[in-house]
Amino acid sequence: MPGMAFMILKISLLLDICMYFHLVLTDNCNLCCKYCRGKAFEDLEVSDGERTMVIDENLPVDLDFEIPLLYEFLKKDPAVTLTFYGGEPLLRADLIEQIVRESPVKRFMMQTNGLLLDRLPTEIVNRFTTLLVSLDGGRELTDANRGSNVYDRVMENIRKIRANGYTGELIARMTVTEDTDIVNTVRYLASNPDYSFSSIHWQIDANFTRDFALRRFTGWANRNYNPGIRTLVRSWVDHMETSGEVLRWYPFLDPMEDLLLEKTSRLRCGSGYANYSIMTDGHIGPCPIMIGMSRYYVGHISTTHPLELAQVPVSGECTDCHIRDFCGGRCLYSNITMPWGKDERQQVCGTVENLHDALLEALPRVKMLLDKGTISLGDFSHEKFNGCEIIP
Ligand code: SF4
Ligand code: SF4
Repeated sequence: MPGMAFMILKISLLLDICMYFHLVLTDNCNLCCKYCRGKAFEDLEVSDGERTMVIDENLPVDLDFEIPLLYEFLKKDPAVTLTFYGGEPLLRADLIEQIVRESPVKRFMMQTNGLLLDRLPTEIVNRFTTLLVSLDGGRELTDANRGSNVYDRVMENIRKIRANGYTGELIARMTVTEDTDIVNTVRYLASNPDYSFSSIHWQIDANFTRDFALRRFTGWANRNYNPGIRTLVRSWVDHMETSGEVLRWYPFLDPMEDLLLEKTSRLRCGSGYANYSIMTDGHIGPCPIMIGMSRYYVGHISTTHPLELAQVPVSGECTDCHIRDFCGGRCLYSNITMPWGKDERQQVCGTVENLHDALLEALPRVKMLLDKGTISLGDFSHEKFNGCEIIP
């Protein structure tokens, strides 16, 4: 469309990709995490480089369309996976239960802060193939970011659902900031015998919502995060060597599988081509964070076929990046909103480059372990587009 800053490529059918939809049940949340809603209450200056985004102010806070419309839409794709999302989706536990019971969908996932997991009946919890539960590491850091006593309440719910027979994938999903010691935090979550997490994922709080000047990002990335990633990659491979187990640490697992298979990757979270989000009014956007960004909507559940959605590609500087095939563009939302100046972008992309180099360096050792039969390629297999952004 002339004059538009992005390009939408219309395609007919995505026959080779299973489709994933996030369903935004509510924009409300029962927490006010420092790096999320907490920022909304800080007095931050608007940077020059920030783009003005048109947000649909009329978007309902809670899901506000006829539920049968959703079923009609979803049943057109027999292989569809539905991920409940918010705000905090479990504030609408009633709707989750209804949709799990009634909809034609066979595979469900959810991203939750875990505090209200006890609101769902056991039989409903046990229908989920994947649950992503947000924690920021141990008790001290989690409670500092997310509120007092949050850690213990979440862990209690985790223990309960495991005791009640939940056998699906349980992913600890961390937001990492300058307060995170990445090595200690990942090791803590991976090794504590009390935990029942199957997998770990982390995402850097790097959208710098007008706050880069207030951050200590550069020093932290150089002194803690980047060297820490190299340490963790080495210990990840050490663990393969000594135990024959490939730990499910998503920022390593998914890219390493592709390096082994010599596959290039598109945007690893799938947003805009395999992973779309249904807004509270039924419109379909390319990413669950792009709530109300109507300019990028690709349809509505009442009128659009789930297998005929337009694609929203990553563009701009990512197009010519030398590690684009590894990174995939990291994040469509950031690619569109451009929350960084030049230096800030370099800092963020530097973390991707560091991850790329660390995994490439480890590749010969991993190949050797495969050759020896210590591990197998199947140990890297995992659900694509399960809510992990993959590139932190
Ligand atoms: S490293 Fe940065 S520039 Fe390169 S593809 Fe990723 S996000 Fe884009
Ligand atoms: S990585 Fe970016 S584009 Fe992908 S789901 Fe997260 S916010 Fe959206």
